[in-house]
Amino acid sequence: MIEPNPASTTNYLPELEAMYDVIVVGGGPAGASTAALVAEHGHTVLLLERAALPRFHVGESLIPETYWPLKRLGLIDRLKESAFPRKFSVQFVSEGVKESAPFYFDRYNPHESSVTWQVERGEFDQMLLERAAELGAVIHTSAHVTDVVFENDTAKGVKCRLLNEDGGRTEREIKCSIVVDATGQSAFIASRWGQREADPLLKKGTIWTYWRGAHRDSGKDEGATLIMQTPGKKSWFWYIPLQDDVVSVGCTGSMNYMFGREHGDAEAVYHRELDRCPAMQKRLMKAERCTDFFSTKDFSYYSRQGAGDGWMLVGDAFGFIDPVYSSGVYLGLKGGEFAADAIHDALQRGDVSAARLGQWQPLYKQGIENFKKLVYAFYAEDFSFGMFLKANPQYKSNMVDILVGDVFKPGVGDIFDAMGIVEPTMEADAASV
Ligand SMILES: Cc1cc2nc3c(=O)[nH]c(=O)nc-3n(C[C@H](O)[C@H](O)[C@H](O)COP(=O)(O)OP(=O)(O)OC[C@H]3O[C@@H](n4cnc5c(N)ncnc54)[C@H](O)[C@@H]3O)c2cc1C
Repeated sequence: MIEPNPASTTNYLPELEAMYDVIVVGGGPAGASTAALVAEHGHTVLLLERAALPRFHVGESLIPETYWPLKRLGLIDRLKESAFPRKFSVQFVSEGVKESAPFYFDRYNPHESSVTWQVERGEFDQMLLERAAELGAVIHTSAHVTDVVFENDTAKGVKCRLLNEDGGRTEREIKCSIVVDATGQSAFIASRWGQREADPLLKKGTIWTYWRGAHRDSGKDEGATLIMQTPGKKSWFWYIPLQDDVVSVGCTGSMNYMFGREHGDAEAVYHRELDRCPAMQKRLMKAERCTDFFSTKDFSYYSRQGAGDGWMLVGDAFGFIDPVYSSGVYLGLKGGEFAADAIHDALQRGDVSAARLGQWQPLYKQGIENFKKLVYAFYAEDFSFGMFLKANPQYKSNMVDILVGDVFKPGVGDIFDAMGIVEPTMEADAASV
């Protein structure tokens, strides 16, 4: 067995000041990129992360557009030197058996950004945090933020519980001009203030685990992500090849279908779905499971409010839609970039109002909306991308743009005018096996 959540060994426990320009809560891709770029703009920034490093996280497959925020962060050479498998393509399988031809990103755009990576998140997120520290951000791990402090309805700091060098804990209140909530699915502010709104059409759950020794395709296809739908689109598997011959294999379906008590435990449901997916079984025939099963559910939501006076949300703390197109890390990094530039603008003007801090969010939401509509179509039983593109070939490039992550491009959403309203097939009919 390998342990994907290794005993954390690294802690950053620096001495802290009483006041920073910005406090970022959470050290995932969104928090790390915000902190890095705010520091690069020349402001003082403290990032508080409750885990010690490296910390385990799901979400290993990147998409090509991730290249650009990583380039701005100065990390492309480090990624090229890393052991993370290169990802050139994605391949879709329908009905558990029908394998489509791989979609190679570089055929669409022959630029090095078309080669991306499958990353072990503990290592990748630590690389991001180390970069933020190099650029001047102060990073404190094992630091649990317990409250946001307000004065006259404006955020003015946080309360946190810090780990000391001697293993004890200290409660601290630290002041700042802007608080950034980058707490991921915990969505600290949105949850606490009842702002979290689940997507009513994406009530999904996932069970995943890691395998060693699974079959890998050869050459350029070795690092491909595979997305395999089971018959009747009742569930789908991801296959994400990682370093050290490990593969992440997860299965997603409606919450009842995956977690209804009558279906048994996570292992039973996972194997039930594997039995319905010969293309995945074939790849796992000689593999050994090397971790326990993990599960998560109801992960598609957004926060009704994205910014307030003195605070803003970024990454999953703002919202998340379904893992099928591997958009989460990209949106976290890109959101961090937008957020850092808005913070710089706000601090320069001495205006930390909600309007100033949230200035990037309408465009960002439009990008998320583009991913979301494609996700909806993926889950609609009576919709076929192949048939749609056959009838509307002029929209193929819009579809590719969204798949690679170019969701902020003007006009990219025109494809949805032609598609009309396409909605996921709902739980009631997906609940039975
Ligand atoms: C099943 C599933 C599969 C996925 N697969 C993919 C994929 O293949 N590719 C992809 O790109 N994305 C994927 N994602 C999404 C991706 O994991 C997230 O979108 C991404 O991690 C978001 O980054 P973030 O920085 O916003 O949050 P996170 O990466 O979750 O980071 C948040 C951090 O905040 C810290 N924190 C939380 N609360 C506090 C607190 N009170 N005080 C201090 N620190 C705190 C946490 O410890 C954590 O480190 C997947 C998601 C799911 C649910």
